[in-house]
Amino acid sequence: MTTPLMTRIAAKRDDLIQLTQDLIRIPTLNPPGENYQAICDYLDKRLSAHGFQIQLIRAFGTPGDSEKYPRWNIIARRDGAHAGDCVHFNSHTDVVEVGAGWTFDPFGGEIADGNIYGRGACDMKGGLAASIIAAEAFIEEHPNFHGAIEISGTADEESGGYGGVAYLAEHGHFNSEKVQHVIIPEPLNKDRICLGHRGGWWAEIETKGEIAHGSMPFLGDCAVRHMGAVIGEFEDKLFPAMAARTTDMPVVPEGAKQSTMNINSIHGGQKEQDDAFDGLPAHCVPDSCRIVIDRRFLAEEPLDQVRSEVKGLLEGLRETRPDFDYEMTELNSVLPSMTDKSAPVVETVAQAIEDVMGKAPEYVASPGTYDQKHIDRIGKLKNCIAYGPGILELAHKPDEYIGIDDMLDSAKVMGASLETLLLPNKN
Ligand SMILES: [Zn+2]
Repeated sequence: MTTPLMTRIAAKRDDLIQLTQDLIRIPTLNPPGENYQAICDYLDKRLSAHGFQIQLIRAFGTPGDSEKYPRWNIIARRDGAHAGDCVHFNSHTDVVEVGAGWTFDPFGGEIADGNIYGRGACDMKGGLAASIIAAEAFIEEHPNFHGAIEISGTADEESGGYGGVAYLAEHGHFNSEKVQHVIIPEPLNKDRICLGHRGGWWAEIETKGEIAHGSMPFLGDCAVRHMGAVIGEFEDKLFPAMAARTTDMPVVPEGAKQSTMNINSIHGGQKEQDDAFDGLPAHCVPDSCRIVIDRRFLAEEPLDQVRSEVKGLLEGLRETRPDFDYEMTELNSVLPSMTDKSAPVVETVAQAIEDVMGKAPEYVASPGTYDQKHIDRIGKLKNCIAYGPGILELAHKPDEYIGIDDMLDSAKVMGASLETLLLPNKN
């Protein structure tokens, strides 16, 4: 189906390309959080020229915020001619480190085979650009719309969102009085609606031992062997237990439809020397061994249970293993978030996908987390999804790209959704 708005969006192809390239060419690497001000200034210029009211908000005092790396955020709002709902598009402006293996300039925005390449192209400057084009085209087509459109560009999603969406939610920018519908254009593919994400729990576990000469280990107590016992318990009990759990969450990919745990790192004994050191190590029994675990959990699992399951195994070792001692330090936790399939924003975007793409959408949930957690938990807004162009698996990889046609299709879906939500007389 083709509507005047879709035709208008299709005609903005060159503008969309230029906008995406411009955004990619501002290297907003996080960490440390570079160029947030530059990208906010760019968006300020662009959106104020299209009649948006601009708020620039620095997340003072949040992790990483400093005079050198200030955490700047932008919220642009355009009110319609009549009262009505506010639809908010939220994109994070930060990108992760470049890494090795690129054949394109990571901040060049080069085009090849209908794709734009660069760090952040799919995660998620392409989504941000698509939402801007959708909103601008909608306003041109329907200047007397009801309600309001907000577009935000926020910091630090890649490092937890504390200097971005969490800060804005804490300061009242996301609440049900101000905002009624939230779309986060993360790269979940143009025909999929992402309803939410799993939870995460991160902890460090240290086993304790006693230092002694390596030739007489019986005089000490080896912390690495104790850690071996911990990992043995995980292998024998925790991993099989997690694998047996099922969920109603439509998590993708398939392997993430259960609870998972990654052992992030392990270190025991003497500090590792830098590469320039080519001497031999001293012979010592290690008195400490540490691992960091990254436990991802399902909506069906309470966080307390996730914690106590690991703690229970460690306490069990205290009973069965002589001299076993440990310390567990929680590093961070994020609760799962799931929006109901019957929520208005879900039904609206689902219908728009059918209208634009001629097929029913797929409903998914993210294996990781994204800023929906803050909108849900702090802002108490349950009418929130992730929907945007781009292939999730390309995120954070070398030669990341976004398809130009995919961006246009997504922009059409976003535009059609605005027509449903902000034109009450449409139907
Ligand atoms: Zn992202």
